[in-house]
Amino acid sequence: MKFYIETYGCQMNVADSELVAGILKNNNYKITDDYQQADLILINTCAVRENAEQRVFGRIGLFTHQKQINKNLVVGLIGCVAQRLKDKLLNDFKTIDFVAGPDTYRRLPDLIEKVKQGERPLDVILSKQENYDDLEPYYYDKNKITGFVSITRGCDNMCAFCIVPFTRGRERSRSPENILSEIQTMKKDGFKEITLLGQNVDKYNWNDGKMKFANLLEKVAVEFPELRIRFATSYPQDMTDDVLKVIAKYKNVCKYIHLPVQAGSNAVLERMKRGYTREWYLNRIEAIKRIIPECSISTDIIAGFCGETEENHKQTIDLMRQVEFDYAYMFKYSVRPNTFAARNLADDVPEDVKSRRLKEIIDLQNNLSYQSNKNDVGKIFEVLVEEISKKNDKQVFGRNSQNKVIIFNGDESLKGTCVNVKVTGFTQATLFGEIC
Ligand code: SF4
Repeated sequence: MKFYIETYGCQMNVADSELVAGILKNNNYKITDDYQQADLILINTCAVRENAEQRVFGRIGLFTHQKQINKNLVVGLIGCVAQRLKDKLLNDFKTIDFVAGPDTYRRLPDLIEKVKQGERPLDVILSKQENYDDLEPYYYDKNKITGFVSITRGCDNMCAFCIVPFTRGRERSRSPENILSEIQTMKKDGFKEITLLGQNVDKYNWNDGKMKFANLLEKVAVEFPELRIRFATSYPQDMTDDVLKVIAKYKNVCKYIHLPVQAGSNAVLERMKRGYTREWYLNRIEAIKRIIPECSISTDIIAGFCGETEENHKQTIDLMRQVEFDYAYMFKYSVRPNTFAARNLADDVPEDVKSRRLKEIIDLQNNLSYQSNKNDVGKIFEVLVEEISKKNDKQVFGRNSQNKVIIFNGDESLKGTCVNVKVTGFTQATLFGEIC
């Protein structure tokens, strides 16, 4: 039986799809990258933003057509949207044969079996323990140079706007033994860079706090000196100097931190239930710049959260100027059902005001990114080559330790190698260089 899997949303979902692929492979399924060849189609969904959800509903239409061609085709919806909408999906979309939440992947073969017997099963039980610790993912992406390893699942933070605690459940950490063993396998498979993943990696906790994230990061850095190590996502409240010192100490730990701020005003941060203040956040930024001077920093920003005033918005702009982020993911606030904000706060910033504030944030970030890249001209970086450039097959692209994309002349033979590249040009999004 052949299966096809389509993944939406974040890196966590990519790692989950690899986990699902591993489970199915062990049950004699073969993967295909052509849905028209598949007997089983899985859509791994993301509920964090409304537009990602809408895209998934669009794809279901396509697979409805495919089901008319292949009468035996099984279509399953898995992941966060499955968790959020549960049986509504089975009621609204006759194409969908089963629905499985993020903690039920071990039972997928049983669910598929039930479909074959004429049922339309729903399995969305969240678990306090399930961390898929002992399961081996299948890295089906042909690139196999950069890959993900989950170290925690779920989140206990309950930020007011966020749906993740409702779709992915409570925080759980994986054992260091299984994390290291998974990285070992990836190394044997030829991976050159791994990203340790968790909704909040700083809350990694094994053996009653005897191993925290800083300890795990150091262990991985020491045991795999030939691999590049990244991680995502950090949380301002929980990111300690210990973690920063490990990043500074080991060359193979990349000098890049994604530290979501979301807003620059204390009033909004409090309504968001983020658990830190503007001053706290700026203190963490100061620590990063002091301990790891060459570190690049990116962030997430939400424009127009509930009750945001013009003055609150100006404080976000002001904070961005102070920090000088290298990159940012920027969004207009949109209500996600069942969250604290949806239940308790009025979504009272008019749409045109949200759009205007978002534009101001994006315009400023474009300038900051431009300036950040301009500052790199003339510098030499070690770049891990990932792929041939899509626009020019005589060029390759890779990333430096700071997670910036660099494009330069090269060919297929460079893929997976690290080369020193001198930056000779730039745009706001990309650096250009030459091997030196
Ligand atoms: S830290 Fe906050 S925003 Fe991030 S996943 Fe947890 S609840 Fe959501």
